[in-house]
Amino acid sequence: MKRRIAILGGGLAGMAAAIRVAEAGEVPVLVETRQRLGGRATSFRDPRTGDILDNCQHVVMGCCTNLLEFYEATGVSELIEWHEATWWADPPHDPVRMAPGLLPAPAHFLGSFARMRFLDRGVKREIRRAMLAMIRLGIGGRADWSDRTFGDFLRANGQSETGIRLFWEVVVVSACNLRVDEVGADFALQVFQEGFLGHRFASAMGLATVPLEQLYDPVVARIREAGGEVRLGTSVLGIAYDGRRVGGLVTRDGMIDASAVIATVPFDRLSKLCSTPLKQADPRLRNLDELEVSPILGVHLFFDVEVMALPHMVLPGRSTHWLFNKGVDDAGRQHLHAVISGADDWMALDETEVIERVLEDLHWAVPRSRGLAPIGHRAVKEKRATFRAVPGVDRLRPSVEPGIGVSNLFLAGDWCRSGWPATMEGAVRTGYAAAAAAVGGRGVMDDLPIARGARLLGLR
Ligand SMILES: Cc1cc2nc3c(=O)[nH]c(=O)nc-3n(C[C@H](O)[C@H](O)[C@H](O)COP(=O)(O)OP(=O)(O)OC[C@H]3O[C@@H](n4cnc5c(N)ncnc54)[C@H](O)[C@@H]3O)c2cc1C
Repeated sequence: MKRRIAILGGGLAGMAAAIRVAEAGEVPVLVETRQRLGGRATSFRDPRTGDILDNCQHVVMGCCTNLLEFYEATGVSELIEWHEATWWADPPHDPVRMAPGLLPAPAHFLGSFARMRFLDRGVKREIRRAMLAMIRLGIGGRADWSDRTFGDFLRANGQSETGIRLFWEVVVVSACNLRVDEVGADFALQVFQEGFLGHRFASAMGLATVPLEQLYDPVVARIREAGGEVRLGTSVLGIAYDGRRVGGLVTRDGMIDASAVIATVPFDRLSKLCSTPLKQADPRLRNLDELEVSPILGVHLFFDVEVMALPHMVLPGRSTHWLFNKGVDDAGRQHLHAVISGADDWMALDETEVIERVLEDLHWAVPRSRGLAPIGHRAVKEKRATFRAVPGVDRLRPSVEPGIGVSNLFLAGDWCRSGWPATMEGAVRTGYAAAAAAVGGRGVMDDLPIARGARLLGLR
């Protein structure tokens, strides 16, 4: 008899879990409250224009081995376009191209780093020293910093405020969604150790060439081929619990019986769906109300001419962190997307103020845009974009496996303990790990191997 596994939530963690449950020969029943899959990494129809827009630009990196395997397994890898280079705005000069050179990792960025004109020689020297310190610290050494901020690490390693403002801040806030003086040092150290220094492909940036929601079309077919179901537009009201085991999901349309539940909704949602006896029985559910959130702001801008030819731009030292070129249509209109991470200060602004501020940064970075006003815009505030990756937060993040908790309840989602900050990769990792714990089969994929040079210097 095949087992029915109820999967609560159709974001990346839920979809990844469902694919692996199907692969293991069991029957996944994926239940999602919205009418589309993808959760926080998806698209929506703009009510003003009818256009399909992504809630925000989502970036995958070369080091995201699980997310890339998920795209492979669902047959959408071809829809990801890879960029090895990143472009850093440097007005009044042309933007600086940062790309791996001929040297092997961890030295592959040294050449293009030397060409970053906006950092003077002293600051560059300091940054190189901190990079070496991160390599020597090793992967295991991160734990020693888990109760301090990355700002503490940087200052302990001789970084000036200029280097922090123009270099470290923009990388860290984009990757961890918190500023250097807020984020747990272990999260930021991981970004540099494994996302830049460990492997030359690790920092390559992948961008979807289609609206995000289209990436998930094959997931439904895979689940159905396995005899499973995808129930969109179905709100789960609670997780059924008989005092010993969970028995399925309670929905507005009735009960969904299952031999195990993989719950992948965000922590605040999960807290509302668990009864007090369930919370008392499972220690993983006791800290749900202690985790906090950090916002992201995504701003779509439309111009009637092409204003930016480069595929994207990093804006060092500005309050807008990234600009992405979403293409020029047949009528010559360009769609740009601006991203502001760790956007607490922006949440109270109205859309007009948001657009004014972003345009100031756009005009600073892209001379061709000066004097031009957008013909359309849409700001998307995601107040609950990610959990706050503050020092010590991993103590509050639960493991996916039940341990001493309720034996047939598995947890997943970017906020569960995965060794990663809140990212699509973290979500897929926990989905894969939860499915393996529930039904067996393949678990989490291997990380990219650390390059020999980096290992010899201590990155192990
Ligand atoms: C603006 C923004 C930009 C981001 N940029 C990046 C990026 O560039 N790169 C990156 O890697 N990550 C990025 N992230 C993070 C990434 O989107 C998330 O880490 C990831 O999508 C989380 O997936 P998840 O499955 O854990 O959770 P979710 O995507 O939140 O999925 C949970 C699902 O559960 C559903 N649900 C909730 N309650 C119920 C209920 N009662 N019944 C049924 N269903 C329910 C929700 O509708 C949702 O679909 C970004 C996030 C945001 C918000």
